[in-house]
Amino acid sequence: MLHIRNFYDGRFVDPLSGSWLENVNPATGAVYSLVARSSAEDVAAAVSAAERAFPQWSAMPTRQRSEVLLSISRRIRERLEELAMAESNDQGKPLWLSRAVDIPRAVDNMAFFATEILHTETPAFRTDEHTMNYTVRSPLGVVGCISPWNLPLYLFTWKIAPALAAGNTVVAKPSELTPMTAFLLAEICVEAGLPPGVLNIVHGLGAECGAAIVEHPQVKAISFTGGTTTGRTIAAVAAPMFKKLSLELGGKNPTIVFDDVDIERTARHVVRAAFTNQGEICLCGSRILVQRSIYDRLRDAIVAETQRYTVGDPLIDTSKLGALVNEAHMEKVLGYIDLARTEGGTILTGGGRVNVDGRCANGYFVAPTLIEGLSNDHRVNQEEIFGPVATLIPFDDEDEAVRLANDVPYGLAASVWSNDVGRAHRTAARLETGIVWTNCWLVRDLRTPFGGVKQSGVGREGGFEALRFFTEPKNITIQY
Ligand code: NAD
Repeated sequence: MLHIRNFYDGRFVDPLSGSWLENVNPATGAVYSLVARSSAEDVAAAVSAAERAFPQWSAMPTRQRSEVLLSISRRIRERLEELAMAESNDQGKPLWLSRAVDIPRAVDNMAFFATEILHTETPAFRTDEHTMNYTVRSPLGVVGCISPWNLPLYLFTWKIAPALAAGNTVVAKPSELTPMTAFLLAEICVEAGLPPGVLNIVHGLGAECGAAIVEHPQVKAISFTGGTTTGRTIAAVAAPMFKKLSLELGGKNPTIVFDDVDIERTARHVVRAAFTNQGEICLCGSRILVQRSIYDRLRDAIVAETQRYTVGDPLIDTSKLGALVNEAHMEKVLGYIDLARTEGGTILTGGGRVNVDGRCANGYFVAPTLIEGLSNDHRVNQEEIFGPVATLIPFDDEDEAVRLANDVPYGLAASVWSNDVGRAHRTAARLETGIVWTNCWLVRDLRTPFGGVKQSGVGREGGFEALRFFTEPKNITIQY
């Protein structure tokens, strides 16, 4: 059986304890590889490698660092098919989606930050005739990057690319549920000539290996994407150590539809926003708020569109949805559907597990599920389900739409659907989220700030925000 080993100092290494975790293909329910179960000792070895590599990597001319990262990007693209297959087998997502989105985005992440560092500026401030300031930014040293299971290589590279581009060395941990593409990336880094110790990847459980990265005194910053509860735990450890923290956490995103839209077209987008990647994207629109005057018509169109979403073997092109990431997560999602029923919600479509024949008979599949009849204060409308479950809630006017949209602990993203430009701008301005899409969803420009407010996180990724996070400014004043 394949062993997913740690990677540090440019070498693949077994976990020092000799312990391994089983890695399951969620579409089949079968164990297909073993993952290193790393401890604090493995993390310490990876941090030492990163510390040794830092002086050379940080001093490397920017152009040269950029070339190495571009070479990684090119090699990811060359191995797109293999990586897409690995991602689908590890995560359960449809292969067409990994091919079209996850792996191309990893290619873009590496290339974007590799070239962004060629376009930074050093600001200068003239205080008076004899006094000038200039502000230089330096890498932090060794930084920790911890990523989740829903978009494995996509989010792993979204963190490590700016960290490395800025001149840091990295100790990174992918989710223990989806370690495969990070493992393959390590091979790619060796082929691309990334110097040993610059990127180190340790695998294992969050509470053991992840916690050891956060606690390590030589790790200067933590960039974390994952659940809000985990983010809170990490902040409690890292804040007293005065580490820089970037926390990208959960969401309970509203999709707000006003009564002037094209019903059929909007229904297609709303359903895509709710159920892409089995609803396992932090940005999915899981609360669909609909103006009452079109509620019945839009609801019927949304139900009809949802029923066109086939659930099935991720390797088959016609499967719109694949498997949920593991059995525990499937049970959690099914638990929320049961809760909605118990609390008096109406299941409009879906509502349970899907049995897929053949090789996927033991996989973790759930039908895309729509629920109506529960007010915004019910748990299914307040808590992140992170699966193929969305609710519909009617509203009367702009004020009520904004009130409902903001009435959750989260504040990651929202989408607003209206042909009235004024209404769309007014609504966007009043939403308590870090991201608003108007008449679109998940349109990403890597230069824009990405992140949430309230319990969706602290800080922003993307563009220069990411380079700022991974560097420390120093102002130098000169009088002459
Ligand atoms: P999670 O918090 O369980 O795990 C995320 C990562 O943190 C994993 O690598 C895990 O091993 C590690 N971890 C767990 N406990 C840790 C600890 N005590 N110390 C250090 N590391 C620890 O999240 P998940 O279940 O993998 O991912 C789903 C969550 O991620 C959802 O809440 C989703 O909304 C969120 N998410 C947010 C964004 C965003 O950009 N805001 C993007 C994707 C996913």
